[in-house]
Amino acid sequence: MSRKSNKDTQVQKKGKSENLFKLAKTMMPGGVSSPVRAIKPYPFYTKSAKGAFVETEDGERLIDCVMGYGPLFLGHQPECIKTAIREQLENGWLYGTPSEHELELAKLIISDHPSIDMCRFVSSGSEATMAAIRLARGFTGKKNIVKVEGGFHGAHDGVLIKAGSGATTMGVPDSAGVIPEIAEHTLQIPYNDPQSLEALLSKNDDIAAFIVEPVMGNVGPILPKKDYLTEVRKITKEHDVLFICDEVICGYRVGIGGAQVKYNVVPDLTTLGKIVGGGLPIGVFGGRREIMEMVAPNGPVYQAGTFSGNPLSMTAGIAMIKEIHKEKHLYDALDKCTDFLKNSLPEEYQNSFVKLGSMFKLFFREAPPQNYIEAKQSDTAKFGKFWKGMMKEGVFLPPSQFETNFLSIAHGVDIVEKIASAYCSALQDC
Ligand SMILES: *Cc1c(COP(=O)(O)O)cnc(C)c1O
Repeated sequence: MSRKSNKDTQVQKKGKSENLFKLAKTMMPGGVSSPVRAIKPYPFYTKSAKGAFVETEDGERLIDCVMGYGPLFLGHQPECIKTAIREQLENGWLYGTPSEHELELAKLIISDHPSIDMCRFVSSGSEATMAAIRLARGFTGKKNIVKVEGGFHGAHDGVLIKAGSGATTMGVPDSAGVIPEIAEHTLQIPYNDPQSLEALLSKNDDIAAFIVEPVMGNVGPILPKKDYLTEVRKITKEHDVLFICDEVICGYRVGIGGAQVKYNVVPDLTTLGKIVGGGLPIGVFGGRREIMEMVAPNGPVYQAGTFSGNPLSMTAGIAMIKEIHKEKHLYDALDKCTDFLKNSLPEEYQNSFVKLGSMFKLFFREAPPQNYIEAKQSDTAKFGKFWKGMMKEGVFLPPSQFETNFLSIAHGVDIVEKIASAYCSALQDC
């Protein structure tokens, strides 16, 4: 039997992700289960993750600012969620019947969101927005929807039109396979421009809903201008159009009650996901009682799912939200962390560093973007160079100019200082 020297195992370890990816590409399109993960020339494979760190199959330990693209507000493996999942495992993880956990999570969500009287659990954010849009059409009897350019609401046909996230990076905002008859019922307006919504709703009276990420999170964070959300709420009400806040990213991220509480608006319907599942798959749509009563089996708008309300996601979500309530002060602490990051940057970059609480992004352009078109004017080549530089410094950022970076409460001050010095080094080289 040959014994491998330490050096050999190190070499073998070093190439492991590359080899896994080669094999993956033979079995899965692009080698991945979701496009943004297909980092060039090959993504690292994660072996484990704890707190604010991921450990790669190549033996590296990186500070993680991707955090599962948003859900992991408490970091990887927080004890409270781990315990909840472990306890639930002993009782089974899928029943095909109601379980009491659904009531507990619904109660937390409803009491944190004044706009939500009732909610339905699904298994992903995409499913939630798909159902919310169907519900809006069922409730209003109208056909079209309006979304914001670059707004991402998941990967289903009706919203894959000038969508953000992976679709933006790849420059294929319209997916093949979405038939024009569906796409033509999704109208687009720019973010932060209430007049364009007013103009559109004035000339088209067959619009069921306006769906928007109240804080855009899928072309990088773009913040609402002062009164933008209040104004679109007013306009939609005047035109009898439902206002859907897609808070799949900002729910519990920008504060308890999400952006709607922070900016003091009351949507008709809300979609949630990511954080509310405690890191397990989930989606939620909810809103005004008279609208939600239209959902099957109460009403004529059909919606169903095998894994909906599954007890593992429910218990993980309950543990997450309870912990957030206990540790409310950490919203302020995280906000200070991203302030610190911003202030640590070389001065010429500070203006285009956009942040809201634990969401942040440096845009490679002169000023913070106000909408999708402005975000798209960023220097993505420079971003690519910067991203690689950050990896060399041991910090894993989302591999796209158009994805938001996240801190979690596991990112203590010392880690944030490391991220700051990594930014400065990486920026020096690009
Ligand atoms: C992530 C996201 C979705 C889709 O959620 P999935 O769980 O990935 O299906 C929808 N809307 C917004 C705003 C999101 O950020």
